[in-house]
Amino acid sequence: MNAMLESAQSIIRNTAKGLNLPDKTIDRLLTPEKIYEFLILKKFKAFRVQHNSLLGPYKGGIRFHPNVNLDEIQALATLMTIKCSVTGLDFGGGKGGVVVDPKKLSETELEELSRAYVRAAYPFIGTDKDVPAPDLNTNSKIIGWMVDEYIKIQKSKSKIQTVDEKTLSYWRATFTGKPIDMGGSLGREEATGRGGVTVLKALLKKLATKNHSGLSRIWTSQIDINSTVAIQGFGNVGYSFAKIASESGFKVTAVSDSKGAITGNKLLPLDIPLVMQCKKEKGYIAGCYCVGGVCDLRSGREISNDELLELPVEILVPAALENVINGQNMSKIRAKIIVEMANGPITEEAHEYLTKKGVVIVPDVLANSGGVIVSYLEWLQNVRNEKWDVGRVNEELEKIILKAFDKVWNRSVEKKISLKDAAFEVAIERLVEKM
Ligand code: NAD
Repeated sequence: MNAMLESAQSIIRNTAKGLNLPDKTIDRLLTPEKIYEFLILKKFKAFRVQHNSLLGPYKGGIRFHPNVNLDEIQALATLMTIKCSVTGLDFGGGKGGVVVDPKKLSETELEELSRAYVRAAYPFIGTDKDVPAPDLNTNSKIIGWMVDEYIKIQKSKSKIQTVDEKTLSYWRATFTGKPIDMGGSLGREEATGRGGVTVLKALLKKLATKNHSGLSRIWTSQIDINSTVAIQGFGNVGYSFAKIASESGFKVTAVSDSKGAITGNKLLPLDIPLVMQCKKEKGYIAGCYCVGGVCDLRSGREISNDELLELPVEILVPAALENVINGQNMSKIRAKIIVEMANGPITEEAHEYLTKKGVVIVPDVLANSGGVIVSYLEWLQNVRNEKWDVGRVNEELEKIILKAFDKVWNRSVEKKISLKDAAFEVAIERLVEKM
């Protein structure tokens, strides 16, 4: 069993035992309901794991990567069950993948692969069955091909000559993360970052009150919306988080991508849109420190990716890779709050160490759930044949994520447990109620 699956299962098992759940129930929480393994275009191994449907149709991305394997897909499907449950969505957990290096395929081959996946998965996906989305190396363009293929098959199976808009919209709900003109939702691109910033602001409000029962033993009353933030990763999630956090008043003082990091001297804030503009021009962040206010002060500098994680900022946001905060560097982390925007950026060992030290960690299943929440809103708009403006989407996203945060926060305070343990408890209880 791979480490990710082992870790996902161990936290579910331990939480369930803590809640005194019987072995049979624990088994039900751990065991996927269905596992599909198939070959597409005669040579690409493909998977779809449908982990749990107690709360609604399975929901989860499809990834294209040479290292995809069944254990990884099962682990990710399991975590989707927890994520959908903790956020209160009427979705279960699923995940799919194809063992392929998409960079070695031409666009035509990529399209053929995407369509072939849908032809194979057609019998077990659908608006009320299983709703895939983009994931690693898949995007709205690929989902566009997939939904087009799905609709072609639906049309030929149902033998309907002309499909009305309502039926078409309902069929389109089989996938989320679609291009806007194919039924995608406004606000999806920024949703994960927006959700993370919303949760961070809510956390700061709670920590500013006196009755947080020592959740953090570090004096946090100094941390507010003007606090300094370092962000690892400047892709979809990292950039949106950085942009929205800056607009909200946070001082985003360091950002990085795979090639390096930059910071403002004395932790002065960076001009995030300008950093992005520079990254687009140069292709990477390192060397982009001379932008905006930082350049005027001649005080920006390039740092390594490791240094970024160890900066004396108040808030650290890993938004790139898994296991980046681990046994090797945990004692060097100086942030007082960590928002897990990537999936699994903190190892269990480091989580335990930092929590004991008093660092407040917002767990990934909550912090980065903005993406799946807006996926749900996309599904809902399609099912109802509606199109919402971005204001409505953002409003609904914030309502859902804040409700989830409150539940997790209250549980954490009540039982004096970490936000991660609280999130798993809340999620598992909701699933067990449904059983
Ligand atoms: P992305 O590919 O758009 O961006 C990843 C970023 O990380 C890039 O800027 C890349 O240069 C950077 N990066 C890679 N290696 C790095 C390193 N060693 N040091 C610093 N930066 C590095 O991906 P994304 O969609 O932004 O996803 C980031 C993380 O968030 C992943 O763990 C993903 O699973 C998770 N996540 C994403 C979403 C979403 O909606 N996109 C939702 C939930 C979780």
